[in-house]
Amino acid sequence: MGPRLRFALLGSPVAHSVSPALYAAAFEAIGVDAEYVLRAVSSAELPTAMRELAVAGGGNVTLPHKEAAAALLDLPTAEVTGSGACNCFWGEGEQLAGDNTDVGGFLAAVEEGPPGTVRGASVLLLGAGGAARAVLLACALGGAARVEVWNRTGRRARELARAFEDRLPRVRVIDRVEMSAGRWDLAVNATRLGLKDGDPLPPEPGEGSVVAALDLVYRRGETAWVRRLREAGIPARDGRGMLVHQAALSVERWLDRSPPLAPLREAAERALGTQTPS
Ligand code: NAP
Repeated sequence: MGPRLRFALLGSPVAHSVSPALYAAAFEAIGVDAEYVLRAVSSAELPTAMRELAVAGGGNVTLPHKEAAAALLDLPTAEVTGSGACNCFWGEGEQLAGDNTDVGGFLAAVEEGPPGTVRGASVLLLGAGGAARAVLLACALGGAARVEVWNRTGRRARELARAFEDRLPRVRVIDRVEMSAGRWDLAVNATRLGLKDGDPLPPEPGEGSVVAALDLVYRRGETAWVRRLREAGIPARDGRGMLVHQAALSVERWLDRSPPLAPLREAAERALGTQTPS
């Protein structure tokens, strides 16, 4: 048997993460002896931390380092190049390889509930940060019919939409007034609102305007946005499905093996409590 494999989540802050529980469940399910720890690192510490872990096993990257991590890779996947962000890395010989498993994680999460696919779907995307970028790339790869982007800072939304114009011909920025009048198959919250107690609610689309909703944010219980939309009769889910899928995809990249999803889901439920079925 070789040395125990080592993986870590690199970010700042990382203390709130439930990833160690998910990966412990995944490694146990596939019978791999490995540890997964949280490591708070500064931007200056990131390159060395990634190189060290790539030799020991690999790792994930979270806020605020996903873009910086992408720039450090020798072997980025098309998802990294297309999104400009990396959340998963490992070593290939002397080289640093990396992927953005948020893209596939989002698509897999969409498949688990209504509308079931982004293919041909109209999507309302709230937010223009790193997660929104992964969602837009997923919409482009998955064949969404159109995407309307709203963000608090309009300039960032316009920059994001422009960056995807070639890949998503029908992407445009909208304001709150247009949001109250539009209709979509899927609304996605990719802002960070809902993470903390007392956060304002992300904007709610007008009554009868969305078929289903996916909040990328997750927390113990359910998010306020998910609760409000459900109360309005809209099937809505939080970000734990995407969390589980991006973790399973990371294990595949590191170990060339797909973990069963059930133990990861159970670990997420234990860490976050039960989400009321939509
Ligand atoms: P980010 O790059 O920092 O982007 C933050 C976004 O939130 C921006 O659009 C920002 O708008 C918006 N925002 C922040 N404060 C706001 C406020 N007070 N009012 C309105 N909008 C506000 O973060 P990120 O990496 O995209 O992550 C966003 C969320 O997605 C996080 O909660 C993260 O946990 C979640 N996420 C979940 C998964 C999963 O697997 N479920 C994966 C990735 C990310 P401005 O541009 O105006 O600042």
